[in-house]
Amino acid sequence: MSIKELLKKTATEQKKALLNKEVSAVELVNAEYERIEAVDEKLGAFNSLCKEQALETAKEVDKKIANNEELPPLAGIPLALKDNINLKDTKTTASSKILENFVSPYDATVVKKLKENMIPILGKVNLDEFAMGSSTENSAFKITRNPWDLNKVPGGSSGGSAASVAGFEATISLGSDTGGSIRLPASFCGIVGMKPTYGRVSRYGLIAFASSLDQIGPFARSVEDAALLLEAISGHDTHDSTSLNMPVPAFSKALTKDIKGSRVGVIKELLGDGVSADVKKAVEAAIQKYKDLGAEIVEVSLPLLEHSIGVYYILATAEASSNLARFDGVKYGHRTKDPKNLLEMYTKTRAEGFGDEVKRRIMLGTYALSAGYYDAYYKKAQQIRRLIKEDFDRAFEKADILISPTCPNTAFEIGSKISDPLSMYLTDIGTISANLAGIPGMSLPCGYDSDGMPIGLQILAPALAEEKLFNMAYNFEQATEFHKKQPDLN
Ligand code: GLN
Repeated sequence: MSIKELLKKTATEQKKALLNKEVSAVELVNAEYERIEAVDEKLGAFNSLCKEQALETAKEVDKKIANNEELPPLAGIPLALKDNINLKDTKTTASSKILENFVSPYDATVVKKLKENMIPILGKVNLDEFAMGSSTENSAFKITRNPWDLNKVPGGSSGGSAASVAGFEATISLGSDTGGSIRLPASFCGIVGMKPTYGRVSRYGLIAFASSLDQIGPFARSVEDAALLLEAISGHDTHDSTSLNMPVPAFSKALTKDIKGSRVGVIKELLGDGVSADVKKAVEAAIQKYKDLGAEIVEVSLPLLEHSIGVYYILATAEASSNLARFDGVKYGHRTKDPKNLLEMYTKTRAEGFGDEVKRRIMLGTYALSAGYYDAYYKKAQQIRRLIKEDFDRAFEKADILISPTCPNTAFEIGSKISDPLSMYLTDIGTISANLAGIPGMSLPCGYDSDGMPIGLQILAPALAEEKLFNMAYNFEQATEFHKKQPDLN
């Protein structure tokens, strides 16, 4: 197999090639950089590269292979890192002007773990500014395009993560998911993306958007690769008080070939009006596939789901308005030139540094938290959040996992929604409620629309039931061919 072909394979297959000495880790990393050089001008996935660090890691892997030393499962597998996660001595911009020249003084906990696992980090990938968006069009620097159709969005906010993996510029990637930012781009780009249980992965070193919702998670070309990557980054961390102090199961060992008798709940509200005909057809076929595999299909209802977008956009913006207060020109990033006084320094710095969507969210969130409106908006939203979680609890009494479309539609044209924030927010109807409830969720390929664009199947599981989730996803993947189709982006 040529190294170009190898770039399109899964991490597990690439690992085999490394261990069989068909290719070295340095060659693999260099081949990725060649690929990036060749296509990233079109794709726009990378904000910056860190060749030296990546090659350093690859060299160490090669040394260990030469000495027949044991290696972690993903050692040597090239990864793209979302540009809101700190990698020491490289820029972390969150795709915002306000952090354009910010250099991370330390490694995020997930990065520390990537390094322990000897995973070469190729560079930092684009996102919607501060992870606010569903299309990656809100980046202050560039638009990322969908490898399946360069006129379409890759989804967001982790659009660079998804596009880099789908476009063979990286084998695996990390993103963050606050309301769907891993699952949506995975669905639009035809790959696997997973949001773990809230607390499974440390957020230390992730630039906070909405702290009660944010989780870091994996992108990959297969369920097994995603399981391996989640295994590598999970675990308790004293630097993040919300990280769970619990053992991390070997998710990749949970992939058996039997799901007979498992109960699959179909979320009624997510297969009704507003779902495109192609998406509906693909998800209905997925339901049939689960039946064929011996699962029991039940219908479940999440009656409050229709309120999830309203609740999310109050809570997420409220938390963001507080989290983003630190970007004021004093300690981090951009500072306006020649301010007349301190107040002007703050206001001009923020006016110059933040983009429109971020400003909109800060204003919305500040409003929702302000004295006269707190009870009517923020408190009410918290109460409904609890009720949504209880809807899930009831649904999981009837089913082991829940399935739905990840998104009611496939990737849309660049520019088609950017001036209509509300229609952009509605893209998240399938994904947001999992963040509100803190439960794990995954998107994996389940079909293609009439234009050949990928369709994502979302699987949700109860908190901490990642093993079940991975196994249910694995069985679907192994019984179908959707994951084998790849974009022909040259
Ligand atoms: N699209 C959602 C938003 O704009 C979710 C973003 C995310 O998960 N980071 O807030």
